[in-house]
Amino acid sequence: MSWVIEGETGPWEMVCGLEIHAQVISKSKLFSGASTAFGAEPNTQVSPVDAGMPGMLPVINIYCVEQAVRTGLGLRAQINLFSVFERKQYFYPDLPNGYQISQYKHPLVGHGSVTIELPDGTTKEIGITRLHLEMDAGKSIHDVLPDATLIDLNRSGIALMEIVTDPDIRSPEEAVAFVRKLRSILRYLGTCDGNMEEGSLRVDANVSVRPLGSTEFGTRCEIKNVNSMRFIAKAIEYEARRQVEILEAGGTIEQETRLFDERRGVTRPMRSKEEAHDYRYFPDPDLLPLELS
Ligand code: ADP
Ligand code: MG
Repeated sequence: MSWVIEGETGPWEMVCGLEIHAQVISKSKLFSGASTAFGAEPNTQVSPVDAGMPGMLPVINIYCVEQAVRTGLGLRAQINLFSVFERKQYFYPDLPNGYQISQYKHPLVGHGSVTIELPDGTTKEIGITRLHLEMDAGKSIHDVLPDATLIDLNRSGIALMEIVTDPDIRSPEEAVAFVRKLRSILRYLGTCDGNMEEGSLRVDANVSVRPLGSTEFGTRCEIKNVNSMRFIAKAIEYEARRQVEILEAGGTIEQETRLFDERRGVTRPMRSKEEAHDYRYFPDPDLLPLELS
């Protein structure tokens, strides 16, 4: 029972993989002792490390590592005893260091799988590509002052697990079933509260389409930060139909990052896709490789 889009030229299949950012349940941040409590006054939970002050040194929070390993086990995944933190460089006002500490070549958790249950009673395996630990950025606040953006660094440095799926998802319904299942695993383990309204669980959806029966993948677009189950389904469906329309009209899909406009129910371009080399990843010299017994 595959989900197909009936086009003018024939049936099309959608291919989707998800990248999910899950905030780790931990009293303190990934590389500092500052509190992670939600809803505090802006900029009251910021250590010099989180503010990117010169000369400050990050120190790994072992509890966050344990939470990520626990999650990896819940995803039936490979736990890598050797992993490395790297700097991912980009400029953004709410990223005071000018880089995010993440993991790239050597993530803490490797391949795993999640079984989803579909409404018709069948089940399906969705592959997990990897899970890595990284720090969250601060928040830019655009709606307090009419002519300025404010920065709140309370979130800066909070531990995130980035969980990436294989491109195994074939319908909006499967995507939602996956996120629901993942959320229940995280909540059961006590590693993430799964609260999408507070931004503890944020979903990016990669979507491409291909003629039904084709074995090659099409060019994908990534839809950033879709923040409810209903919008995940809507955004993915809209995006798949948009791509079919373009391809059937003889056009090509540009690989790009898009945003879902919740009010209009459409996706629109945000930026052209950046490649890994744009970020100039390199191992963070302030942190030793993580070796687990
Ligand atoms: P990047 O490093 O550019 O983010 P990845 O290869 O890590 O790209 O893939 C990111 C996500 O995109 C994964 O969830 C993966 O399953 C998904 N993905 C990769 N190729 C496709 C495709 N052609 N169509 C849909 N999703 C895809
Ligand atoms: Mg990615």
